Amino acid sequence: MVKKRKILIPQPHSKFLKVVCKICGAENILFSHATFPARCKVCGTVLVQPTGGKAKILRERAEIVAELG
Ligand SMILES: [Zn+2]
Repeated sequence: MVKKRKILIPQPHSKFLKVVCKICGAENILFSHATFPARCKVCGTVLVQPTGGKAKILRERAEIVAELG
């Protein structure tokens, strides 16, 4: 039996966020460092504004429900 080794992988600070659109309630997967304004896939509302670094979540329109990796 091969022993499982723990391999440390350099992790980027970016991650994917699951956010719920407050306008229509749809779940959207967004990149935390998006370089473009991410829109809700259902109603088209802009949920994230790019800032040059970490994208700004427009919290009045989107609520983070989960962080994925
Ligand atoms: Zn929406």
